Amino acid sequence: MTFQQAPPTLGNQYHDDRVLRSYLRRVLPVDGLQEIEPSLIEMGRLAGGELYQLQLADRLNEPRLTQWDAWGNRIDKIEVTPLWREAERVAVKHGVVATAYEHQHGSLSRVHQCALAYLFTPSTDIYSCPLAMTDGAARTLIASQNAALIERAVPHLITRDQSEFWTAGQWMTELTGGSDVGLSETVAKPEPGSRDFRLYGRKWFTSAIGSQIALTLARPQGNPPGGRGLALFYLEICDEYGQLNHIEINRLKDKLGTRKVPTAELTLNGTRAELVMGPTDGVRNITPLLNITRLWNGISSVALMRRGLALALDYAGRRNAFGAPLSEKPLHMDTLASLQAEFEAAFHFAFHTAELTGRSETSELDETDARLLRILTPVMKLTTAKQAVTVASEVLESFGGAGYVEDTGLPGLLRDSQLLPIWEGTTNVLSLDTLRAIGTDGDRVLESTLTSILNDVRDASLGGPIRLALAALNHALSWLKEVQTKGDAAVEAGARRFALTVGRAMELALLIRHAQWSIDHENDTRTAAAAHRFAHSVIDLVVDDFSK
Ligand SMILES: Cc1cc2nc3c(=O)[nH]c(=O)nc-3n(C[C@H](O)[C@H](O)[C@H](O)COP(=O)(O)OP(=O)(O)OC[C@H]3O[C@@H](n4cnc5c(N)ncnc54)[C@H](O)[C@@H]3O)c2cc1C
Repeated sequence: MTFQQAPPTLGNQYHDDRVLRSYLRRVLPVDGLQEIEPSLIEMGRLAGGELYQLQLADRLNEPRLTQWDAWGNRIDKIEVTPLWREAERVAVKHGVVATAYEHQHGSLSRVHQCALAYLFTPSTDIYSCPLAMTDGAARTLIASQNAALIERAVPHLITRDQSEFWTAGQWMTELTGGSDVGLSETVAKPEPGSRDFRLYGRKWFTSAIGSQIALTLARPQGNPPGGRGLALFYLEICDEYGQLNHIEINRLKDKLGTRKVPTAELTLNGTRAELVMGPTDGVRNITPLLNITRLWNGISSVALMRRGLALALDYAGRRNAFGAPLSEKPLHMDTLASLQAEFEAAFHFAFHTAELTGRSETSELDETDARLLRILTPVMKLTTAKQAVTVASEVLESFGGAGYVEDTGLPGLLRDSQLLPIWEGTTNVLSLDTLRAIGTDGDRVLESTLTSILNDVRDASLGGPIRLALAALNHALSWLKEVQTKGDAAVEAGARRFALTVGRAMELALLIRHAQWSIDHENDTRTAAAAHRFAHSVIDLVVDDFSK
């Protein structure tokens, strides 16, 4: 009989996820967990079942842009694929955005929402992208205190009723640059006799272009150059008759990955828009949106890592080589265990940031924790995104040749992960942002945070990892102090190594804390094993002097 290889399969993605379930048991009160668990079990069932099957069936479909109708009218119509249509329905019904705004569990509603997003993301081909921007737009409008816009748009962004649901885009990047948005050339001209403006310019990357609204940056006429001279605008993409708001969709990007996401190049040709806040400081005013999308980026990073590992571990039990399943080959399992350690470390960092974000939204953060959130958001985004790419690459290799073959659905994991370090601030740009966030006294915030995270860890077996986490952070902070005396160029050159060291030290500390909890409350040493393994990866990347 000809040999037939069994493909990997997925079970209920909530039930099968020890790391998520153990984490939720630690951070949620017992009754809170009981209340939210049915929603997570249902999302886990969909993610490992119907949605995953639909994702595999939808693999070759892509969004389509139709620019002209049969009679020569410019229509610029976008059609997304069946998977994305179903993803929207599931996301709205299950409150993948709404949960964070319903505050059923106070600040932990953000954790609940992130857990839903984490389960939902890997089976829906980056439908997380419009959801992240929608969430970010809701948060930004609420923060703006613009009562008219809040009343007009926010209920649509956070609804559970699909007929009312709107998604939001964020249009920042222009040809002049995504990192240096202060160079943006889009101009805003006041509309005579109205408080509205008309926008003229080109936006070079606009994702999920099927949205109903967008937040964007433009320079009101007469404003100075640079970031301060830009203002934050709200616009609706179509008017009440369904006509585009003086927007031309020039083409969709032909991208390496995230191919279900329609990412467009646009021309704004008199697009009607309203100021969200004042006529300047647009880059500062859009920050709440960036913080939310960076959180989503981290959650997506750990979600894609988890999906790769779920498939790889299942396959290891199905694939035989040299007389035994791969799951019985010590080297194969050692390779997967190292990936699992990366994933668990990243998981705790992303969800810790979700906890802090939730507390900031319910005004429960003191000044120190607010500083901490400001520092950790870019560090978490950049650290977890890099891990996602590394893990996805190794996951593909763990399947051998099958990992390189398209109709397994596996290569998409690597291509989609590769976006995570690029958008919403590249690794370098966020490393520099980390230095700005630390400023003159952020080192004390980081030191005291790490010490307090590790405070209750007593298990002797965790002593070694604790010493490594503290040593890495201390080395990074002393490097920063020292290098500042050598001038800006030296500081900038080491910023990425610094930020990644802070990120990995933070991850190690959070993993150790959870390991202690899991030993105490679950009699389980698996997180401790992951902490040991992660501690023996490279935590400290700081180099004092390359010439030595
Ligand atoms: C699939 C996809 C979807 C996207 N969707 C959107 C969207 O919806 N809305 C939107 O506004 N944008 C979107 N973007 C754009 C994205 O945010 C930008 O590509 C990103 O911010 C980088 O900007 P850039 O491409 O202009 O690169 P550049 O800014 O030119 O950067 C090029 C390189 O230079 C490095 N660099 C830049 N400045 C510095 C510095 N000071 N020091 C050291 N290194 C530096 C960067 O790290 C990068 O490696 C999307 C991009 C992609 C790929």
